[in-house]
Amino acid sequence: MKCIAEYHTHTKYSDGKSTMEENVLFARKIGLRKIGISDHGYMHKGFGVKYRDYPKMKDEIERLREKYQDIKIFLGVEANVLDDRGNIDVDDYIRNYVDYVMAGYHFGSMPPNMRGLKNHVRNFIKPLKPREMDYNTRALVNAMRDNQIFILTHPGDKGDVYIEEVAKMAEKTSTVLEINAHHDHLSKDQIDKIKHMDIKFAIGSDAHHHTHIGMTQSALSRAHSAGLSKKQIINVI
Ligand SMILES: [Zn+2]
Ligand SMILES: [Zn+2]
Repeated sequence: MKCIAEYHTHTKYSDGKSTMEENVLFARKIGLRKIGISDHGYMHKGFGVKYRDYPKMKDEIERLREKYQDIKIFLGVEANVLDDRGNIDVDDYIRNYVDYVMAGYHFGSMPPNMRGLKNHVRNFIKPLKPREMDYNTRALVNAMRDNQIFILTHPGDKGDVYIEEVAKMAEKTSTVLEINAHHDHLSKDQIDKIKHMDIKFAIGSDAHHHTHIGMTQSALSRAHSAGLSKKQIINVI
């Protein structure tokens, strides 16, 4: 199994170390057919994209498309799942600039209310009680229910979830679930529980440096050991 497209990479626009062009050049170098830039949503404290940067990012993507026509280049976003009500930090203005929206749960995100903040703390302290598992599950399920999300990133990372419930909504909304090489989720156990369902998976490096693009071995081996077929994964051959 080989990864031929990367949708999950970061740049200096959020907490990545490289420029968009460095990411694109490296992706070409390792023979990818598609490269997506997906910096953190603006409500990620400290290193989310600046809200006002989207037009500039889009311009840069268009310049790179012109310059490197042998690879497909996309502008995406890794939005933050903000609470259990389906809120993510993407609005119509941002949708207007990006080609796709991914979303995931991050400790660095700023919940819009006290309940969300308390849940952050409980997730951080661990071990989780069913109440927190329910909250985390609802957060991902409602995010998919209320927003068009292409890929749900590292489901269960930082805040564990009932993965079957998450997968049911993914099936209903055709949301792709990510097997992230940088984080341990989806894990083999999680994949085992949901692999019989009518859902698709994506491999993601979550590269924060251009030379980490394509470093997807750990994710590929999880997919392989869980027995996923190439047909179930959108970005491998
Ligand atoms: Zn993430
Ligand atoms: Zn990421």
